[in-house]
Amino acid sequence: MSRRLIYAANWKMHHGPVAARAFAERFSATVEPREGRELWFFPPAVSISATADALAARPDATVGAQNVYWEQKGAFTGESSVPLVAEAGARGALVGHSERRHVFGETDADTARKVAALLDGGLVPMLCVGETLAEREGGDTERVVLRQLRAALEGRSADELGRTLIAYEPVWAIGTGRNATPADAAAVHRSIRAELARLGTAGRASVLYGGSVNARNILALLAEDELDGVLVGGASLDPDGWAELVGLGG
Ligand code: PEP
Repeated sequence: MSRRLIYAANWKMHHGPVAARAFAERFSATVEPREGRELWFFPPAVSISATADALAARPDATVGAQNVYWEQKGAFTGESSVPLVAEAGARGALVGHSERRHVFGETDADTARKVAALLDGGLVPMLCVGETLAEREGGDTERVVLRQLRAALEGRSADELGRTLIAYEPVWAIGTGRNATPADAAAVHRSIRAELARLGTAGRASVLYGGSVNARNILALLAEDELDGVLVGGASLDPDGWAELVGLGG
């Protein structure tokens, strides 16, 4: 039997509640659930509820937030806590996406607090890690990725590690049309898996690849056994394009 594959859509700052509901309804009308395939949707915070409602009947689809704050409640204007996104229908959240790290200045310490808040609240963190172009060209990819991984996950239990999803997303590949070769991505995935084992993960961790994945390159990427799925931005924004993409691989 082929391995379980995860297809995750990061809509970034696109699709308000009306568009998100229309997307989910159109997608559901064209794509049947499939054995061994798990779908995640990360809409903007204002659209979590509409997306979760529209996908509620699908056993294969889960909705997550793109970001959370680690405090439970209080005077944190503009932020959403884990209980708030959970009430809206989110079952997980992205943490440490490259745009959070590099546009909004999120630190390794921030990602650790967010992962902890999600795990404590019973939600799934999808932890994003990845190196910049300068770091890759300087031969620093592994050092940077493993540092980000350790900073966010050190000290978590085997059960908590087992509930965490990892997305390897080289910064230089996100939204640029450039992507890592399948072999390069697989090499980093192997290092991530080895580090997760050192941190205490029991069994096979789910490690996704992200960075300019599209219908033309997804099959070559998923041909690598190391890849347990994909996290997709631009190519997830159109319901028909996303329907095509999730039909490839597996
Ligand atoms: C992302 O936003 O996580 C991403 C991988 O974007 P894109 O597919 O557009 O590169």
